[in-house]
Amino acid sequence: MSGSPAVVMRLLASAYSVAEKAGSIVRKVLHSGELGIVEKTGANDLQTLADRLAQQSICASLSRRFPKITIIGEEELPAEDLSEDLIENGHSEDILQKTCPAEYSGLKEEEIVVWVDPLDGTKEYTEASRCVRHPAEAQISHKGPYISHSTALWLLDNVTVLIGIACGGKAIAGVINQPFYNYQLGPGAELGRTMWGMPGLGAFGFQLQEVPGDRRIITTTRSHSNKVVTDCVDAMEPHDVLRVGGAGNKIIHLVEGRASAYVFASPGCKKWDTCAPEAILHAVGGKLTDIHGNAYRYDANVKHMNSAGVLAALRNHEYYASRVPQSVLQALKSD
Ligand code: AMP
Ligand code: MG
Ligand code: MG
Repeated sequence: MSGSPAVVMRLLASAYSVAEKAGSIVRKVLHSGELGIVEKTGANDLQTLADRLAQQSICASLSRRFPKITIIGEEELPAEDLSEDLIENGHSEDILQKTCPAEYSGLKEEEIVVWVDPLDGTKEYTEASRCVRHPAEAQISHKGPYISHSTALWLLDNVTVLIGIACGGKAIAGVINQPFYNYQLGPGAELGRTMWGMPGLGAFGFQLQEVPGDRRIITTTRSHSNKVVTDCVDAMEPHDVLRVGGAGNKIIHLVEGRASAYVFASPGCKKWDTCAPEAILHAVGGKLTDIHGNAYRYDANVKHMNSAGVLAALRNHEYYASRVPQSVLQALKSD
């Protein structure tokens, strides 16, 4: 390919490295043991030091390099002096080598909106932190690893960093970093992985798999449930239900063949939760909509809340949409 890479490919390449940096911040805060938890709207809506630092890092790093892009982050943060060590200047050379789908090759910075969830699955992050041994304790006990084995540790895999790229109201690319990937391997293992995707180009950083056979395995919330949510899951006549945290994590379940559909019949999920996951899911032929089957829009001026819930599947989205009960459709109005 001749000429300089398209703006959106340069942005995506930077977002890849910026998400890795955010993932390392998320790990560092967990290992420090000082989470600095703040309740936002209540006990099930939390913010930690990791959410704050990761968002500062992502937004400042991207806006320095792409000053005309609109960047919308989940956390409301006071304007503070930024520590230079939060800035990430790197990019993925692999992404820069890819050919941009023709329809996006002429995009300008001004046309792009970036949706940032610096830490998706904060509730699970705080729960998992309670069973992580911290450096001081590890030294005293000489037990080596900072991460001890305990049942709640699986929650570490619920945690992701989400950077979604939108244009013309559509999610056109996304990056997901999973900071604790490989935590099971114990001390010395390199933690974390980064997945990315762009409809028209493909998805990378994972092995695409489908749930075997015709099994309907539904993944849904573990910490934001209510009767409407469970009624809707039951209506899918699932063979199994996986209650796990995080929107990013649930989409990973879909593309890695651990779940067939993500069903969440409740408001609460926001545009920064769904933009990056939607782009990656769409890149492999899946579909994410509200519970009515309507697409969400990601323009800069949209309402942040996904009020009409989330319905996502790698295959057979229309089947799951057809099974949503009338009572649920009435309870959740479309935007
Ligand atoms: P969950 O599936 O419960 O982990 O939710 C996925 C994403 O939506 C997470 O970022 C949650 O914080 C967010 N979310 C879902 N429901 C609510 C709620 N009722 N209040 C606050 N955040 C929510
Ligand atoms: Mg989130
Ligand atoms: Mg978050």
